[in-house]
Amino acid sequence: MAAADNVSAAGGGPRTILLAEHDRQVAAHLCGQLASLGYRVCGRVDTGAAAIAAAEASRPDLILLNTALPGETGAIDAAEAIDRRLGIPVLFLSADTAPGAVGSALRAHPYAYLATPVDIRELYAQIEVVLAKARDDSQARDALQWYDATLRGVADGVIVTDAAARLRFLNPAAERLLGQTLAAVRGHDIDTVVRLQDAAGAALPSPLRRLLAGQPPSPLPTPLLLLRDGAPQPVEDSAAPIHNAQGKLLGAVMVLRDTRPREAAAQQLRQSEERFRNAFDLAPGGMALAAPDGSFLQVNNALCRLLRAEPAQLAGRRLDDFSAGEATAAPLLRTLRDGRTASVQFEQRLAVGDAEVWALVSVSLMRQPSDAGTLLFQLHDITERKRAEQRLARLAHHDPLTGLPNRAAISEELERQIALARRHRQRLAVVFLDIDYFKHVNDSLGHEAGDDLLRVVAQRLRGAMRGSDMVGRLGGDEFVVLLPEIQALNDVVHVAAKMQQECLKPVHMGGHELRVGISLGASLYPDHADDARSLLRYADSAMYQAKAEGRGNIQFYHHDMTRGMERRLRLGADLRRALERQEFELYFQPIVALDSLAPHAAEALLRWNHPELGLLGPDEFLPLAEDIGLGAPLGAWVVDTACAAAAGWPGGGPQLAINVSPAQFRHNHLMPLIARALASSALPPHRLCLEITEQMLLGDNQHNRDILRELKALGVRISIDDFGTGYSSLSYLSHFRPHEMKIDRSLVLGVCDNPEHAAIVRAAVAMAHSLQLAVVAEGVEGAGQHALLRHMGCDLGQGYWYGRPLPAAQFHAWLAAPDAPRHGGAALDASSPSEGC
Ligand code: C2E
Ligand code: CA
Ligand code: CA
Repeated sequence: MAAADNVSAAGGGPRTILLAEHDRQVAAHLCGQLASLGYRVCGRVDTGAAAIAAAEASRPDLILLNTALPGETGAIDAAEAIDRRLGIPVLFLSADTAPGAVGSALRAHPYAYLATPVDIRELYAQIEVVLAKARDDSQARDALQWYDATLRGVADGVIVTDAAARLRFLNPAAERLLGQTLAAVRGHDIDTVVRLQDAAGAALPSPLRRLLAGQPPSPLPTPLLLLRDGAPQPVEDSAAPIHNAQGKLLGAVMVLRDTRPREAAAQQLRQSEERFRNAFDLAPGGMALAAPDGSFLQVNNALCRLLRAEPAQLAGRRLDDFSAGEATAAPLLRTLRDGRTASVQFEQRLAVGDAEVWALVSVSLMRQPSDAGTLLFQLHDITERKRAEQRLARLAHHDPLTGLPNRAAISEELERQIALARRHRQRLAVVFLDIDYFKHVNDSLGHEAGDDLLRVVAQRLRGAMRGSDMVGRLGGDEFVVLLPEIQALNDVVHVAAKMQQECLKPVHMGGHELRVGISLGASLYPDHADDARSLLRYADSAMYQAKAEGRGNIQFYHHDMTRGMERRLRLGADLRRALERQEFELYFQPIVALDSLAPHAAEALLRWNHPELGLLGPDEFLPLAEDIGLGAPLGAWVVDTACAAAAGWPGGGPQLAINVSPAQFRHNHLMPLIARALASSALPPHRLCLEITEQMLLGDNQHNRDILRELKALGVRISIDDFGTGYSSLSYLSHFRPHEMKIDRSLVLGVCDNPEHAAIVRAAVAMAHSLQLAVVAEGVEGAGQHALLRHMGCDLGQGYWYGRPLPAAQFHAWLAAPDAPRHGGAALDASSPSEGC
C-alpha cells in the first residue's frame, strides 16, 4: 500500500481526514496510523459542536468520529448535522457495539461503524470503501441535479405516476398545462388529474393505465384534447413505463405537449405564405421564381399576362425563350450565380405572340441556407415608355412630313456606311436628288399640294430602293439616297434611272396630272472623298450641275464642281453691280420653219459678260439673281432690250420670243412692263411671243387666267416652253389656249432612238394640232432629228443645227444675209453640233 496512491479525488494532494476524538492518546495513535497510510489529518476536535465547525471550515474528505464525544451536541447529532448540511461522509468509531448503540448511530446515516481499538488494516479498508461510496453518492446527487433541472426546463409537461397510477411528479410545464400544482395533486389518481377526451367529447382513459397493466400503448386519436377548466385544448402525448434495475415496474411517465404554440406558428406560416402568394399573384409587375439556370418554377398572374401564356405553359421555360433579338438574360444570370453581384437589371425586348413587348427585368438571387440559389425575376412592361423613346428618337431622326430619315439620321448612317465600306473595301454612293420645278407646284397649287407631292416622291423613291439602300429628306424638295455596295458607276446610273422612272409616273393632284422630273448628283466613296461631309457636299455640287445641264439627269461629282460652287458664291456679290455696269447682253437664237428653214422667230437668251469669268449662261446666274431680288429689274431689262432689238430687225423681221420667269409671271408688273416696252419700241404685239413654262400654269387660278387674257388682249402670243419636262398635264392646254408649244430638248434628244420619246412627241404634235397650236422642237442638233421631227409634223425648230444663239449684232447681220452659214457664232456651248440620229 503506497502512500503516493492516496491522493484526493480532486487531484490536489493526499485525502484529508478530520479526527473527532476526545481521548488524546487514542487520537495521537490514530494520527500516526493515518499518516502512515498516506492520509492527511487536517484537524482534531474533541466535541460534537467543534466537529461541525471544523468540518464546515476545512471540508475534509472524511470525518472519523467517536460516538462517545462529550459535550452538549452529542456525536450522533453532530454527525447528522454534517451529513445533512455538508454531505461529508462520517465513519463512526466506538467501543460500544451493543445493538442499541449501533441502532441510534444509524440515525446519522454513517458510512461505516468501526469497533475500537481499530486494526490498522481494517481502518484502511473501511476508509477507502467510505471514500469510494461517498464519491458515488456525490455523482448520483449531481446526476439527480441534472435530471431535475432538465425536467424543470423542458417545455413539455412531464407527468410521473407510481405503479398504481397515483401521481408522483409534475414538472413546471405540466403544472402549467394542467393548471395544478404538484403539491395539490400528489398521490391523486392519474385520471382525476389528466382528463383526456377525443374530438367528439368522449372521455379517454389515460394511456398510462395500459402501460401499467403491462399492455402495449394503443394509438390515441388526433386531436387529443386535454380538459382544463372544462375547456378542451389539443395536446400530443407520449408515454413509457418505468422499471427498476431488476425489471420491476415502478410507474410510468407521460409527456404531454401543448400543440397550440406549434399550431399558432403553423397558422402564422400559412398566413404569411398566403399573404406572400397573394402579393405574388396580385402584384402588378410580372414575377417569377426560377431555378439557378433561369427556368421558371412559379410565375404570377401579371407575368402570364405579360407573356400571354398560362402558368403551365411557362413552367420550365426561360426568359430568353421569349427574347426578340439578342438574349441578354443568360450571361447576366451567370454573374449572379458566380456571386459577383446580388442582382441585375436590364431591358429586354420580348416577342410575345405576334406582338413585341419591352420589359425592364430585374433578377435577384435569394440566398437562403435552405436554398440552392432560387432566382426572383421581376418584369415591368415598359413598352409604352420604349415606344415614346422610339418616337422621340424618330422625331430627332425623321422628317415628320415624309417619315424619311432626316439630315441628322442620314449623316449618322453615312458615317456608319463609310466605316463599313472602309472595312470591307467597298464602294458607296451618295446621291442628291432634287425635284425639278418643285417651286412652281408650291407656288401655283399651294403648299399642301407641295407637301402631298413630297410624300408621293418619298414613297416612290423608297419603292425604287434596294433593301440596303437608304433614302432621306434633307428639307425642301431635296432628298438624299445612300447606296452601299456599289461596284461601278453604272450601278448608280441604274438606280437613278429607276428612281426617275418611278417619279415620272403620273401624279394626280388638284385635277392635274403631273409628271415629276428629278435631277440627281452623285459622289462616291472612296473615289471622291472619304468623309461624310465632303461626300454630301460633292453630291450636292453634282446635283447642281445636273440642274444646270437641263435637269432630269444624273451627274457624278468631279473636282471642277467644287470650284463651280465657290464661283456661285462669288457671283452673288458681282451680280448686284452687273446691271449698272451693263455686263448683261442678249443673244438671239433663230427658230425656223421646218419645211423651208426660213427664220420664223428668234428667242432672246440672256448672257452675262463677267469681267473675270467671261461669258456666263443664264443657268449659272439667273436662279441666283432671282434669289437675291434681281429677278424683276433684270426681267424688265430683257423685255426692253429685246423689244428694241427686234423692232430694228430687217425686212418686217421674225417674231421675238422672250422667256418669262415664274416670278415675273406671278407678280403684277408683267402687263405694264410688256405694254410699255411694246409702246416704246413700236414692236407690233403679234411679233412678241412670251414663253412660259407649263408649271407656271399649274394652278388653275383666276390670276393666271386674268394675265393670260390681258396678254392675249394686247395681241401678244403665248408659247408653252419646256413641254414634257415635268408636270405635263394636257388639260390646261385646252383651257388656256396658248398659240404655241415648245417640245423640250430632253424629248427631242431621244426622239431618234427612244421609242417612248418618239411616241410622246408624236402624241404632243397630234394634240397640239387638234388645238390649233404651232409645235416647236427645241434643241435640234442633227439632220436626222430634223428629218424625223419634220416627218412627225412639227412646224418649227430651234437648235444648233439651225443656228446657235448669237449676239444681237451678229444675229442682225445673219438676218440681213440669210445665205450666211447657219451654224456658228459665239455660242455658250462650245461643242460642235452633232449630226443626231
Ligand atoms: P430655254 O428657254 O429652254 O432656252 C433654250 C436653251 O437651250 C438655251 O440655253 C439655248 O442656248 C439652248 N439650246 C438651243 N439649241 C440647243 C441645241 O441644239 N442643243 C443644246 N444643247 N442646247 C440648245 P440658255 O441660253 O443657256 O438658256 C437656258 C435657259 O435659261 C432657257 O431655257 C431659259 O429657260 C432661261 N433663260 C434664258 N434667257 C432668259 C431670260 O432672258 N429670261 C428668263 N426668265 N429666262 C431665260
Ligand atoms: Ca425658252
Ligand atoms: Ca425651252
